[in-house]
Amino acid sequence: MRIGILGAGISGLAVATMIKEAGLGDVRILEKAKSPGGLASTRVTDGYVFDLHGGHVFNTPFDDVRQWVFDRMPMSEWVFQMRKAKSLFKQRVIDYPFEFALYQLPIEDGLECFNGFQDACRGDEPENYYDWLIWKFGRPIAMKYMIPYNEKIMSYDLRQMSTRWVKGKMPLPSFKEVELAFRSKDPTERVMAHASFHYPRRGGIQSLIDIISSPLKDELTLDYAVRSVELDKKEWVVNGEYRFDQLISTISLKSLVRMMPQAPSDVTRAGLGLRTNSVTTTLCECEPNDISWLYIPDKKMCLHRMVFQGGFSPENCPEGVGMGSSVMLESTGRVDPQLQIRDVNNKSGIPSLQLGRIIDGSYADSYIVYDHEYADNLAKIIPYIKSMGIHCLGRFAQWQYYNMDVCIKKAFEMVDVLKAQHKKSAGLK
Ligand SMILES: Cc1cc2nc3c(=O)[nH]c(=O)nc-3n(C[C@H](O)[C@H](O)[C@H](O)COP(=O)(O)OP(=O)(O)OC[C@H]3O[C@@H](n4cnc5c(N)ncnc54)[C@H](O)[C@@H]3O)c2cc1C
Repeated sequence: MRIGILGAGISGLAVATMIKEAGLGDVRILEKAKSPGGLASTRVTDGYVFDLHGGHVFNTPFDDVRQWVFDRMPMSEWVFQMRKAKSLFKQRVIDYPFEFALYQLPIEDGLECFNGFQDACRGDEPENYYDWLIWKFGRPIAMKYMIPYNEKIMSYDLRQMSTRWVKGKMPLPSFKEVELAFRSKDPTERVMAHASFHYPRRGGIQSLIDIISSPLKDELTLDYAVRSVELDKKEWVVNGEYRFDQLISTISLKSLVRMMPQAPSDVTRAGLGLRTNSVTTTLCECEPNDISWLYIPDKKMCLHRMVFQGGFSPENCPEGVGMGSSVMLESTGRVDPQLQIRDVNNKSGIPSLQLGRIIDGSYADSYIVYDHEYADNLAKIIPYIKSMGIHCLGRFAQWQYYNMDVCIKKAFEMVDVLKAQHKKSAGLK
């Protein structure tokens, strides 16, 4: 069986590896970039490691995913760290999540937020994200932190956004936990996932990609943009050139629909309606500190997060430069890197955060925008894609906020489906 895989990010590479190892068919991976990795790509500039599309750390609740990753890239090649996430609020660096750090705010803000949280979750649960944030966290926390931060990262009217995606994607502590943190002045997360992470010792997240893609070099066609996908007598034809019995798409659902001239017009329209936003990432020099990443809700600053990537591994900065001497600035949309730096240097109010020269920068699609129409749009697209027999896998292909570990988990599930199909067709022969 010939299996075509569109895209060589972590999803495409993981599923190709699993199919090959299970002997389910011959795979061909078609990737438009000159190197594999997709969002999980790294460049090393002047000896500084730069994960192009946001610092990529690895952690997972799934044992099989952890095993799969560490079987390929042993534990000794990773640095293990406890996460030290922080937020910047009124020119103070406080702990994360915000709800556990209320005692670290100026006293009047802290009390107001605490009392507001006590009154949260009353009445019907709203369906738009703006009102939901007020309902869930209370008005003071919503207005001082949650709404400005989300307005920055989403760059979209939160009233026009759905809430269906939030579960599992943001910490949702109970009142008991928040009260304990407030009264004991202890911000330690008790039940939060992702309190620690692994990061490649050398070469950034690309080193994981390189290890996975190296046994696939004969199956990987790079610098090859897929432009059309058509069904011809039970075979998938890509760009009129490659023919496959099965097709797995890891590229954006929005792009895939555009590439299918046979798609009905309501499906094409639904594809056009799917929204994403993008991220500008800038790596620059900084003073070392022990923060993993810092959330910035202040709307006067154009960046929403600083990721202290230089501290993820002793090898992330060049020889002679101390560990932790680089930081990545993230802003939604296309933003001038000089403006990002000026905002930190002039508006953060934290002398130790002063930034030096720009080392490197990048820009890419980053987040799905879950507007009110997304569910209806998916309800038109997904059944059509399924009925055509195309398998979709990954963050933009399944239109879900998946991290790398979930992409690998979904690849396992997809291979199980392919195995069952394979068994069935072998039984019929
Ligand atoms: C800012 C940010 C920070 C993140 N941090 C983390 C983190 O710390 N930890 C974590 O686990 N996850 C993190 N993630 C999520 C992680 O990046 C994704 O889960 C994962 O990389 C998605 O992989 P994918 O293969 O599904 O998609 P992608 O990486 O998008 O891969 C799709 C591939 O398809 C290719 N392609 C697209 N169109 C075409 C075409 N027409 N023809 C051929 N090829 C095409 C692309 O070039 C790309 O290589 C982060 C994401 C973002 C945006």
